[in-house]
Amino acid sequence: MEDRLQPVFAEVLRRNPGEVEFHQAVREVFESLGPVLRKNPQYVEAAVLERICEPERQIIFRVPWVDDTGRVRINRGFRVEYNSALGPYKGGLRFHPSVYLGIVKFLGFEQIFKNALTGLPIGGGKGGSDFDPRGRSDGEIMRFCQSFMTELYRHIGEYTDVPAGDIGVGAREIGYLFGQYKRITNRYESGVLTGKGLTWGGSLVRREATGYGAVLFAQSMLGTQSESLDGRRVSVSGSGNVAIYAAEKAQQLGGRVITFSDSSGYVVDEAGIDLDLLKEVKEVERGRVSDYVERRPGARLVAEGSIWDVPTDVALPCATQNELTEADAKQLVANGVRAVAEGANMPTTPEAVALLREAGVLFGPGKAANAGGVATSALEMQQNASRDSWSFEHTEARLAEIMAGIHDRCLATADEYDAPGDYVAGANIAGFTHVADAMIALGVV
Ligand code: GLU
Repeated sequence: MEDRLQPVFAEVLRRNPGEVEFHQAVREVFESLGPVLRKNPQYVEAAVLERICEPERQIIFRVPWVDDTGRVRINRGFRVEYNSALGPYKGGLRFHPSVYLGIVKFLGFEQIFKNALTGLPIGGGKGGSDFDPRGRSDGEIMRFCQSFMTELYRHIGEYTDVPAGDIGVGAREIGYLFGQYKRITNRYESGVLTGKGLTWGGSLVRREATGYGAVLFAQSMLGTQSESLDGRRVSVSGSGNVAIYAAEKAQQLGGRVITFSDSSGYVVDEAGIDLDLLKEVKEVERGRVSDYVERRPGARLVAEGSIWDVPTDVALPCATQNELTEADAKQLVANGVRAVAEGANMPTTPEAVALLREAGVLFGPGKAANAGGVATSALEMQQNASRDSWSFEHTEARLAEIMAGIHDRCLATADEYDAPGDYVAGANIAGFTHVADAMIALGVV
């Protein structure tokens, strides 16, 4: 990080003690910004950096609910409305026991630049709860979502803040959240949430978009080297929405997807994974990866060690933050990996990113590579605003166009700042300057 950025970063550390993931996300962006500030003194004069690190609003609330045994439970809810220079706050809700303010702020901070990169009119925000949905009944999930929305509804709106899903929040949860919002406000305000069901205002391709987009991004990166996914070994981590549809698109493009995982371990299926079976296990049965292995001859479950030990050409980390470490990156490089594209948010540790880049591996950071999800949320908002719904083909074509645009913008920006092929610098700088210019135009607010 350049010297002039140090005092601003020191202030971020002082103001936000203990929020290590947030510090990591800020540092990662700051490391790209030295040349930007040299070229654009107006950003320094207008204190854009200091302002962009401080969320516009942070909401923390109690979420009481009653479990199936009649016991009263308490969780903590969050919504960090980070930056609205480009549009209403936009970003998902994460329900996972690891959620605390530092996680929500890291995700919200990333979301500002990711959303800016899409070129669509959406600001950045994020929310969630330390609620653990695992093992909870449908009724418990519904009561939790209703209680969560009973506080959240007063802070959100089509023109204010538009939440969506993230880890632990899918179409079922968005349904319960939307139902309660509608009930409290007496408004059928479709554009207040995205990731809705297809029969009540959702968009085709939203479910697939994050995973599809990450693979399209990987394909574009490989394309710059006259390579492609066709015939390549592809490793996916995770087995949620992002992982499943990353695997689907990779298979459509001729890749052989050989892994996926959950918290109980990872699965290696050398024949190429059976996507129908994986969807049945994960989406219909809400089961574990072991349920897949039991029904799939030739697949094995590995409970110890790292999924990145499996030799692969293209690695798609689609599980969670900091899941791909320096040791993993070393192993991937030793096994000849060609490209890594982040389907999850910040899944690769800074040390691992540095190692991959030094080894000449194509690296697509999440802000760029996983922006297809939120971009398609913005397309869902467009459809809601015009009371329309688009075909799968049309929506997927829009997604592909947006992903290609992000890829090209990252490369062009990296070139402009003398860092050819550096998608990290390209994404951070292109995202930052887009937001920073809007913030300056809107004055000191
Ligand atoms: N949670 C997703 C992300 O990390 C999507 C957010 C959205 O669609 O608003 O970008």
